[in-house]
Amino acid sequence: MLLKILLGFLCGVTAQQSPPPLLLVSFDGFRADYLKRFPMVNLKLLYSQGVLVDELTNVFVTKTFPNHYTMVTGLYPESHGILANNMYDPVSHQYFHIGEKNDPWWWNEAEPLWVTALDSGYKTAGMMWPGSDLPIRNRTPTHFLHYDPGVTFKQRVGNVTNWIIGDGKEVGVKFAALYWEEPDKSGHFYGPDNTTAMAKALKEVDDNIGVLVSELKRTGLWGRINLLIASDHGMTQCSTERLIRLDDCLQPDSYTLVDLAPVTAIIPHTDPKAIVDLLNKCHTHITAYLKEDIPVRLHYRNNIRIQPVIVIADEGWTIVQRGNKLRKVGNHGYDNALSSMHPFLAATGPSFRQGYHISSLQSVDIYPLMCHLLSVPPQPNNGTLTKARCLLAAETCLDTGLVILLMVLQVVLLVLIMAALLYILQRNRRRSVL
Ligand code: AMP
Ligand code: ZN
Ligand code: ZN
Repeated sequence: MLLKILLGFLCGVTAQQSPPPLLLVSFDGFRADYLKRFPMVNLKLLYSQGVLVDELTNVFVTKTFPNHYTMVTGLYPESHGILANNMYDPVSHQYFHIGEKNDPWWWNEAEPLWVTALDSGYKTAGMMWPGSDLPIRNRTPTHFLHYDPGVTFKQRVGNVTNWIIGDGKEVGVKFAALYWEEPDKSGHFYGPDNTTAMAKALKEVDDNIGVLVSELKRTGLWGRINLLIASDHGMTQCSTERLIRLDDCLQPDSYTLVDLAPVTAIIPHTDPKAIVDLLNKCHTHITAYLKEDIPVRLHYRNNIRIQPVIVIADEGWTIVQRGNKLRKVGNHGYDNALSSMHPFLAATGPSFRQGYHISSLQSVDIYPLMCHLLSVPPQPNNGTLTKARCLLAAETCLDTGLVILLMVLQVVLLVLIMAALLYILQRNRRRSVL
């Protein structure tokens, strides 16, 4: 009997200590204000039972690979090393190109959560998430599929839920990261201002969220799993009226091009300062920087993979080498201070508050939040749990509005007490004179 009680107690403790599984889903290029522009019935139902962050302040450059790696490392690109979709490494003299087979060592400057969580004894999974099908610091997640855009959303979700449930003999996955290509693909093709086309693309995304919720319900995971739905960046409308031709600014043989639009990375063959001056004089809708002069707020200086000259186009402007061709009607990559570049974050599950909402959060803060949810010791990172903590059911956080109201009440109370004291003092003095 005593043994039974002891076992029961120990099991209770272990069950209590083991956190719920965590599933992070990214819908590429989901601009924050799509939530206001389009119905998104399933997504809205999901966060009405959980939490919503209206806008995530993501990281520069606002491209897919840098931002996805930030979400799972909590680091700015200058610290995790995936600085753009196209890069050059001056030590190895190698190039990195999105969509091509790149060596895994490009990712080794950081350790993603699906690797770190292995050290806590957890199984992890990556489903098409950038980097998750490669050995990073010699380790992959426990389960992954090689990147294949032909794998449907339903197939991705089916695999992930199977991995989370486990096969009865083996325990399931504790952390999984799942990636989906839309609405980014449609945003590039039609442009975010094409309401008819984007409504169709967003309806499909919302249907996929419906598929995800149904699958979690069917497998009994709904209500037992913490689910984060996020995105990497937004999207803005481009135009053939807003083209900037590098050939109009620079001699084609005076530089090597590493990345083009909307952030151009250049290796100058001549004096870098002269190249920067030529570019800045050439067009009012670009700003060229020497690497050491890139604004500190962009956190985009301290890495050898950042080239000596960086050119940033204004919102909606496209840098091309020559000609009049606009390859992408919508694009992203611009300054991360722009609202159009911001995505959103929604979450639901046993650890989250219900029907709660905050207006903003840094995307580097997602990593410490996920480590907290999994009780995994975080790697050094640029995020903080301070604000994200307020999204959690176990935390008592006061609204900023409420804090201000309480402070005002305190001041009013203080003034009233002072006035009362003064009144009493004066009355006593008058009495003593009489
Ligand atoms: P972007 O140029 O920033 O819009 O990148 C989006 C594209 O990245 C998608 O359309 C995919 O083709 C590609 N992509 C996304 N995930 C992966 C991955 N895990 N491996 C290779 N390419 C990917
Ligand atoms: Zn993207
Ligand atoms: Zn894109």
